[in-house]
Amino acid sequence: MAGLYTGEQRGSGISEERLVHNYLVEAGLAARIPKGIRIWEETLRDGEQTPGVAYTPEEKVRIARVLDEVHVPMMDVGIPVVSSEEARGVRMIANAGLDATIMAAARTVRKDVEACIACDVDEIALFTAGSDLHIKHKLAMTREQVKEAAVRETEYAVAHGVDVSFVTEDTFRADLDFVVDLYDACTAAGAHRAVVCDTVGVMTPPGITWFFEQLKRRLKPTELSFHGHNDFGLAVANSLAAVEAGVAVPHTCVNGLGERSGNASFEELVLSLEALYGYDTGIDISRIYELSQLVETLSGIPVGMHQPLVGHNAFAHESGIHAHGVIKHTATYEPMQPEKLGRQRTFVFGKHTGSLAVAEKVRGRGVEATPEQVAALVKLIKDFAEARSKGDQQAFVVSFRDRAERRRGVTDDEFWTLAEKAGLRRPKTAAK
Ligand code: MN
Repeated sequence: MAGLYTGEQRGSGISEERLVHNYLVEAGLAARIPKGIRIWEETLRDGEQTPGVAYTPEEKVRIARVLDEVHVPMMDVGIPVVSSEEARGVRMIANAGLDATIMAAARTVRKDVEACIACDVDEIALFTAGSDLHIKHKLAMTREQVKEAAVRETEYAVAHGVDVSFVTEDTFRADLDFVVDLYDACTAAGAHRAVVCDTVGVMTPPGITWFFEQLKRRLKPTELSFHGHNDFGLAVANSLAAVEAGVAVPHTCVNGLGERSGNASFEELVLSLEALYGYDTGIDISRIYELSQLVETLSGIPVGMHQPLVGHNAFAHESGIHAHGVIKHTATYEPMQPEKLGRQRTFVFGKHTGSLAVAEKVRGRGVEATPEQVAALVKLIKDFAEARSKGDQQAFVVSFRDRAERRRGVTDDEFWTLAEKAGLRRPKTAAK
């Protein structure tokens, strides 16, 4: 990967790679990132746990194929014990002849592990609670019971010829001595990777650095992996801190899908590594926008308007100053070229429009215009945009809010209709 830009633009005489005084590169900070980072993709597992998302097995296969084609090296594709349809999807992907390592997730419960083995996956992401909060309030177990089940199921999976990544949930709110002991016990039982989870997204980059330094010093040798959530918008920053700290396998979801506010976004992490650190992830970044749109469509979760890189506004310009700059040289107001991830920049005409964007649009369509005509048109566009009612846009927001609420999972009415089928009484206040 050649950095942010390639070659010269419009004979500017400036090598674009030299344009960005990227301190990560200049100060040698990028060199901290170890070779051999491999993305662990979670779009089909944690991504499907986004409230309101359910893929069909065929949809899962479609997404898995594109992930494989862009060279994602490993993906967790579901939890087979959830349902027979879920197991069917996992098995279809495992037998689709993909290059990627196909994983499925299991609690440290025998039927979960057996369901994964029955799906022909290469590897099991075997997870249990790390923190006492989860051990006590979720599992109602003791630390000793947690460890015993983890070791038992690791041994069972390995004995059946399946690799094990051992995952502790809520690792950063756990007792460090306990999780070190738990990881070591599972490593000894045959697990080849330790997955550390910021399950509720409460870490910060310096905290990540500190934690992994502790862990590396204390754990028996094993490959480290990080699963970050985005509750405070820090998932990608935390994942970058993790890889800088020597974590080889960061988790991602396309479009940042996942529980609550989601996981570290695939496109943000991959393109940060590629464009900001000059790191070659091995991912074909030219299809990232296509992948984002496929997942947006099949998940039914719209990408945010100004979501980084894949959002509608990520490469859109309206203001005259910005549009002028970008027309003269795209690097003035774009951090990277949209074509690199397979999309195009757009110019929006409105209140902030300037004459150059208008002149370019007119000329681009083969229409002659004098400077006076362009100036007149700019004024007409500004006046028009300022005078236009915002009713449409506001109605869109209101309808979106309403539909977003209604389309998640079953509706309240559907819930009580199903409850009645199960023999329950519909409460008087429930929607009909
Ligand atoms: Mn998660």
